Amino acid sequence: MKAISLVWLARADLSNINSGQGSGNLTELKTYSHGRKPYASGQSVRRALFDTLARTYPDKFKCLAEKPCGDVENCWACDLRGFLAPKAGEGGDRRWSPLKITPALGQIPSEIVTDMLTRMSVFDKEGRESKDNRIAHVQLAENIYRVAAVIDVENIGRVLEPDIETKGTGKQKEEIFNGWKPVIEVDKNEKRKRIQAVLDGIYNLSGFAKQARSATSLAPEIVLITIQDVYNQRGLKALELDDSGQIDLRALGWILDEHQALGYKDIFGFTPGVVNNENELLALLKDKGIEVLPVHNAFQQAKNLVAEAAL
Ligand SMILES: [Zn+2]
Repeated sequence: MKAISLVWLARADLSNINSGQGSGNLTELKTYSHGRKPYASGQSVRRALFDTLARTYPDKFKCLAEKPCGDVENCWACDLRGFLAPKAGEGGDRRWSPLKITPALGQIPSEIVTDMLTRMSVFDKEGRESKDNRIAHVQLAENIYRVAAVIDVENIGRVLEPDIETKGTGKQKEEIFNGWKPVIEVDKNEKRKRIQAVLDGIYNLSGFAKQARSATSLAPEIVLITIQDVYNQRGLKALELDDSGQIDLRALGWILDEHQALGYKDIFGFTPGVVNNENELLALLKDKGIEVLPVHNAFQQAKNLVAEAAL
């Protein structure tokens, strides 16, 4: 097992996630697709995931992002989040996060709401944001969001350094690069614990509490979990919705076929009432021989595979 990729859909109201000043200020809501659809940045989804993890494992998260301790062996924050820490002397210490996370992209365009927004005055005479405008923002932010993540299983709890051999002396001296050698490698059970914690963190993804006063969750309601023996980010396009809330089944079928051909293991978690073509979706999964599980079971099955994996 080299990687676990996850793509999921969640119904959410993200009106406050991207706003700086709490629930009063909704003006920073981001949109894409010519302002038709809302999104939350990958950065804010990451922060939510790490907040969720830190709340569950306070003793394992030994530092804050602003002041990384750099102890990958013992600190889950530094291992999973990665860091850039200035070093005394020259250069710095850098770790790339073994978790890649996409922005949360709203899937359903809100033409009517956008139209409302452009026609309405944004502020009233006293300079306050108009109430109607706020309502429009909230409506725009209510959507089905698609998020994808890849867990780089191999590099969790591991730090590599270049293995450089010096040969000869004086002018004949040369440095030979012999590849990479691990300088930190946590034991396999510790590694399993960290991977399983990340899976739980995604399942429970709700760390937006600090920014939003209302409960906001991007926890998966429909999820495709893929266990891969190669690291790549190929499957992340799965579960795209069209404007009417239907999953693109042609693309999904294509991706599932590819996974099967490559020997990847797909696990599908499902909640009824999220997408508009669920009967066709379930028929496709049956046709591809993929069992449809309640979302918590899908995550449990992935965690079981991590527990059994040789790594
Ligand atoms: Zn740390």
